[in-house]
Amino acid sequence: MSISNNLKTIRNDIGPATQLVAVSKQQPMERVEKALAAGQRIFGENRVQEAAEKWPPLREAYPDIELHMIGPLQSNKAADAVALFDVIQTLDRKKIIDSCAEAQNHQSRTLSYYIQVNTGQEAQKSGVEPDNLGDILKYAQSAGLNAIGLMCIPPIDEAPGLHFALLRKLAVKHGLHHLSMGMSSDYKTAVKFGATSVRIGSAIFGARI
Ligand SMILES: *Cc1c(COP(=O)(O)O)cnc(C)c1O
Repeated sequence: MSISNNLKTIRNDIGPATQLVAVSKQQPMERVEKALAAGQRIFGENRVQEAAEKWPPLREAYPDIELHMIGPLQSNKAADAVALFDVIQTLDRKKIIDSCAEAQNHQSRTLSYYIQVNTGQEAQKSGVEPDNLGDILKYAQSAGLNAIGLMCIPPIDEAPGLHFALLRKLAVKHGLHHLSMGMSSDYKTAVKFGATSVRIGSAIFGARI
């Protein structure tokens, strides 16, 4: 299957109302260019450094690109991330919120943000604990960040539907309208549970290098 066919299949699966974030981390440039040629404009990266090397030249050629940060963010990289990305999906602590707010003010930029929720309460995974979501959300809003939704990555060894359902419930509770959930292996389930945005890498581009 070609990248353009993969994109067609996935767009057809998710329907027109769901945003498709094509996860281009660790993918060769020629694959990224094929996705651009097929009309894809929304991309996700999980490392600031890699994104900074890859995307500024492409943005000159395609000004309508929208770039999402989907990996854990360190506060010393926040200024670079705010300069580079349009959406940060991984807010999860006050220090990062402070750094992003400061960078936005310095750069006169306004991004959109998701709060990442650690729905599986896994020790090694980033994201706020579900019980702390209200506190972090309030903090982000009073810092002036435009928090639009929630994001999660379910534990690898559990049925994802339970986590998607929990994320949706939390979004409703907190009055948020966007849900970033679902990857190559579980995006159809995520859409059934109300995903408004899916993050798909290998099912579009093939295995990462
Ligand atoms: C890599 C990554 C994806 C995409 O994973 P695939 O299984 O290749 O679709 C989605 N979300 C996050 C947070 C990732 O790091």
